[in-house]
Amino acid sequence: MDRRKFLQIPIAAIPAFLASRAYGQEHTKFPVTSTMRMKGPVVVSTWDSGVTANNGAWPLLRKQGHALDAVEAAGRASELEPSCCVGLAAWPDRDGKVTLDACIMNGNGDIGAVSFLERIKHPVSVARAVMEKTPHVLLSGEGAQEFAAANGFKLESGELSEDARKQWAEWLKKSQYKPGINVEGRPTTILQFAPNYFDNGKPNHDTMGTVALDASGGLAGMVTTSGMAFKMRGRVGDSPIIGAGLFVDNEVGAATSSGVGEEVIRICGTHTVIEQMRFGRTPEQACREAIRRVVKRDLVKAKEFQVGFVALSKTGVIGAFAVQKGFTFTVTNEQYPEGKIFEAKSHF
Ligand code: ASP
Repeated sequence: MDRRKFLQIPIAAIPAFLASRAYGQEHTKFPVTSTMRMKGPVVVSTWDSGVTANNGAWPLLRKQGHALDAVEAAGRASELEPSCCVGLAAWPDRDGKVTLDACIMNGNGDIGAVSFLERIKHPVSVARAVMEKTPHVLLSGEGAQEFAAANGFKLESGELSEDARKQWAEWLKKSQYKPGINVEGRPTTILQFAPNYFDNGKPNHDTMGTVALDASGGLAGMVTTSGMAFKMRGRVGDSPIIGAGLFVDNEVGAATSSGVGEEVIRICGTHTVIEQMRFGRTPEQACREAIRRVVKRDLVKAKEFQVGFVALSKTGVIGAFAVQKGFTFTVTNEQYPEGKIFEAKSHF
């Protein structure tokens, strides 16, 4: 099950939702075992649509390519695939504009990111250009767009995709931003939020986080997203924030997140995961500890949102943990060249 579903669905309605969904039935989800050690090279991406991302990365990794090139390819593949809902075809903010966030990180500490970027097809590649061509680590909004254009990225029309236009028009009828954190105690139903959600018959994911370990033991990661659908204009989530949505250290491992970004930023999510691993916790234990910190702030509110972390150690051990059930991730390596989907354990 994808992030958007869990951000919008009332927890009490999950059993009925599970029974009715068509998309989830297409894939078998495998439970995570506590010691999932993968033979490298390996690429791991959030959600079922991580298959698309991993398919972009694997041809490079398989041929001894660098993890950094592989994760960028993963991001680009997702940004091009409308059903991944992370690029220009994704759902807009409340003003009807698609604004994109992305970051990329190498295991040696090189980083680049963009936020609040409009009309650019490949934010992940702009993030890489920020990393390689500027003295900065994060460019935002108009400045990020100008930088992209000056570096050969085409300025697209900025028109919404048909699906996004339809969803936005529906959303405007109530204009309520309630992505699952329900302060009034009445969770938004997916039907209130997006009546056509199930009609298009394709998965909707709007954050792709990818981490990879290459043949020479190098790690890298990227995140690309349109952020929370119908967010306030100018809102930036965890995804482009190094240490929140992504952290990589060749000495330890790589971690990425999905879910309500505000909750991830609050605890410096992926940095927390990597630091736990540095001091001896397994990837799963580390992700579990990060989720404990997310949840402990308000146990009642936590019942209404999703956050998930997935981590890959430098030795190829994978672990994950989430607030709610249904956080999935895809693993691709020599053993699973077509990608295998796992479901993380969860707090609730
Ligand atoms: N973490 C993303 C954000 O808050 C949303 C997501 O995971 O889909 O922008």
